[in-house]
Amino acid sequence: MDRVTPMTATANEKTAETFRSLNPATGELVGEHPVHDEAAVNAAIERARTAQIWWAGLGWKERKVRLLNIKGALTRALNRVATAIHQETGKPVADAQLETVLAITHLDWAARNAQKVLGPRGVFPGIVAVNQKCVLEYQPLGVVGVIGPWNYPLFTPVGSIAYALAAGNAVVFKPSEYTPGVALLLAEIISGVIPEEPVFQVVTGFGDTGAALARGAVDKIAFTGSSPTARKVMAACAERLTPIVAECGGKDAFIVDADADLDEAADAALWGAMSNAGQTCAGVERVYVVDSVYDAFVARLTARARTLRPGEDRTAAYGPITMPGQLNVIRRHVDDALARGGQALVGGADAVKEPYVEPVVLVDVPDDSAAVCEETFGPTITVHRVKSVDEAVTRANATPYALAGAVYSKSRSTAMDAARRLRGGMTSINAVIAFAAVPALPFGGVGDSGFGRIHGADGLREFARAKAITRQRFAPPMNLTSFERTDKDMAKLLRLVSLLHGRRYR
Ligand code: NAD
Repeated sequence: MDRVTPMTATANEKTAETFRSLNPATGELVGEHPVHDEAAVNAAIERARTAQIWWAGLGWKERKVRLLNIKGALTRALNRVATAIHQETGKPVADAQLETVLAITHLDWAARNAQKVLGPRGVFPGIVAVNQKCVLEYQPLGVVGVIGPWNYPLFTPVGSIAYALAAGNAVVFKPSEYTPGVALLLAEIISGVIPEEPVFQVVTGFGDTGAALARGAVDKIAFTGSSPTARKVMAACAERLTPIVAECGGKDAFIVDADADLDEAADAALWGAMSNAGQTCAGVERVYVVDSVYDAFVARLTARARTLRPGEDRTAAYGPITMPGQLNVIRRHVDDALARGGQALVGGADAVKEPYVEPVVLVDVPDDSAAVCEETFGPTITVHRVKSVDEAVTRANATPYALAGAVYSKSRSTAMDAARRLRGGMTSINAVIAFAAVPALPFGGVGDSGFGRIHGADGLREFARAKAITRQRFAPPMNLTSFERTDKDMAKLLRLVSLLHGRRYR
């Protein structure tokens, strides 16, 4: 990613600047795109406003067919999309294909479930209001601004885009400056299925373009990115009281109980920590292992970690660090851990070999060091010895981040209890990041990891507002909301209420 100034405007956009997206593994140019300014962003929002009215007017059935056809078109373009993801992020093609498959399953689920979750339904009015027919429905918000990251440039934004569109909204999407090409390919696929109106538009650029979207006349912002940026976006949204759903970083913990299958646990912890070069919001960053199996687990983990190799070729386990600035963060965390008494069992201070980072397994790292408290976002892992699962949960919960986590245990009750007590939105038992592949499950964080939920029924409701409608079917037996109300009416009400609610419960 590279800023280019000055350049002439492209297409119909009046913008003075463009920027380049580069392949982080090779430095090769992938594409050049306009830096959309505030006027261009506002124009996109205005176009979206008209498009949304048309889109909402299509109704549930037609929107479902269109979204299923977007899913079909994305499936047929799977390899092209995966190649674009590979080029802009550097991740292995197979990982990019997996990411595309996940996005496809979310489009499918959102399309098939929107009417069931959001459509009109009758609600029992209660005895006091028995003369009312009650309807609850969830209406679209209008225009949703989606701001996305680069680490999963398709899967992550589609977790908002699919659900927002299914709920009847139009979307203006500002992708990361590192991955604009993936977003534009998605826009091409969507406009092929919905050529009539721009229900989905992409604005490209840096943070300023995202800030213009957050300040614009949108009805909600769905932000995915780092916690510091989320704070800025929220402050910008405060000007118009624009609501926001924030999906931010994580420092996820992985707990290994004494009776866990250690081979499976080591395999899962390693994949959770190192796949995508550790650049996963819900990736494993810390492992807490019960004392009696600590040595056996560490032996398995390190043996496997030594076999991993980053690179650009098809046999590499993972690719480069997509954002060059992150290399310094990873280096700082490893150096700090080693300086404070930590030991690197795999890799070490020289693991950062730009643009790659070799696997790093750290032990004996103090709980208050950067590698344990801050999001590292690299192929590094810290392993900690604990007395019990209880201690593991307590230490796992001691960071401001709280996105997800995993527990490996043969005891269903121990695992369920730990899963419930782990602070955060999602926990996998005897698997890692399993929830991401289940579109019906909500996804989101607590604390510095953000708030609100994408995916599933909660994710659909995140992009809709509840509308309550009552229709009086017959005159009320007691005339309570009128200046004609009598003492007799009130006496009837009080008798009824004492009958209905006055008893003692045990
Ligand atoms: P980032 O915060 O740097 O950028 C995210 C997006 O915000 C980009 O499109 C960027 O251009 C835009 N932006 C920057 N400044 C802005 C501003 N002032 N106003 C509006 N928009 C602005 O994050 P990133 O480096 O792209 O992504 C990595 C982060 O995302 C990590 O912390 C990771 O954990 C997190 N993430 C979270 C999830 C999740 O679902 N919880 C998923 C993927 C990534």
